[in-house]
Amino acid sequence: MAVRTPVYLDHHATTPMDPAVLEVLQRVQKDHFGNPASQGHSFGWAAQTLVENARHQVAQLVGAEDREIIFTSGATEANNLVLLGGAATSGKPCKIISTTLEHSSIAEPLTRLQEQGWDVVRIQSDLDGLIQPEDIEACLNDDQDHEVLMVSVIAAQNEIGTLQPLEQIGKLCRRRGVLFHSDAAQACGHVPIDAQAMNLDLVSISSHKIYGPKGVGALMVKRTHPPLPLAPLFFGGGQENGLRPGTLNVPGISAFGEACRLALKNRDEEVLRLRQLKDRFWHRLQEQLPGVYLNGAAEPRLPGNLNIRFDGIRSAQLLPRVSVLALSTGAACRSDEPGPSPVLMSLGLDSNQADSSVRIGLGRFTSQEDVDFAAERLIGAVEKLRQE
Ligand SMILES: *Cc1c(COP(=O)(O)O)cnc(C)c1O
Repeated sequence: MAVRTPVYLDHHATTPMDPAVLEVLQRVQKDHFGNPASQGHSFGWAAQTLVENARHQVAQLVGAEDREIIFTSGATEANNLVLLGGAATSGKPCKIISTTLEHSSIAEPLTRLQEQGWDVVRIQSDLDGLIQPEDIEACLNDDQDHEVLMVSVIAAQNEIGTLQPLEQIGKLCRRRGVLFHSDAAQACGHVPIDAQAMNLDLVSISSHKIYGPKGVGALMVKRTHPPLPLAPLFFGGGQENGLRPGTLNVPGISAFGEACRLALKNRDEEVLRLRQLKDRFWHRLQEQLPGVYLNGAAEPRLPGNLNIRFDGIRSAQLLPRVSVLALSTGAACRSDEPGPSPVLMSLGLDSNQADSSVRIGLGRFTSQEDVDFAAERLIGAVEKLRQE
């Protein structure tokens, strides 16, 4: 079967919309312009019904109650709301525990808080790209000077795909009565994330990482008495419990809901299919090339993720040689930042090794033919570069 090129292998940067999701987006955009906050007429009621239906679909994906879902413009906003909105409720700077594996939308707000006097602890991952719960426990027990506001740990790392032990960390946080947040943008819809079982108080989700439209996402906020300490970042309307004022993006939210429904429906099957494709890809490279290494633990890992290091190759030279493949050297959101990836460095790689690494992200529409074609092209390009 002929392979359609270019082959898209960058599903951690974003995913194409599922055709069923696109259909919902277009239908709602066309037929329902009402404002869900207009409670006096049927246009508003129809829009509100669509939003509440989507809220239910998102909630189902993370094992939450409908009213625990706050719609945002994406996971970046959800992450900023958690950290900056959480910090704003505290009268004085205290302590936040996070990790060296975080996405820039956690890492940068944390740096801002640090500049404002907060004690920010970034737990170092092990050489496999996994956070050890004991390290978090030690930090929670560490000094009693500073009250800990929250623990924030990425669920699935966006470069190396490693899945963090959220259930164990959740238990520690619950025992200590500390808030537990996870940036689950790469995990929700791809692997099971259950807010209840993992003791998660706050979860960030993104639509465009799960075959939904861009510019939509959600924050799950566990309902408690009294409510969790969280202040809005924006003001000017009571929407979303006052936590995220502004007129809702009804078409985007509806389509996001559909994306969540599809992700949940297909998830277990898709995990098996992608894992098999990923293993096939990796075995081909390993069989035919010397000096190839997997960055990060083989398991537990996102089923569609490979992050591979080729000895003696610079990825900046390799990528243009395989322009028929859409690959990346790391996080799309920090592609403007020079220097090696901090995540790869935290695996103990030196900057040369980090520079010889490539991220491969397989997705819902990746076929076995795509994988075979991509492996063959990559192997050819690496062999050729090594001869030069
Ligand atoms: C993509 C991503 C984000 C940002 O999500 P947006 O919806 O694009 O703002 C945050 N965290 C992780 C881990 C991501 O992969």
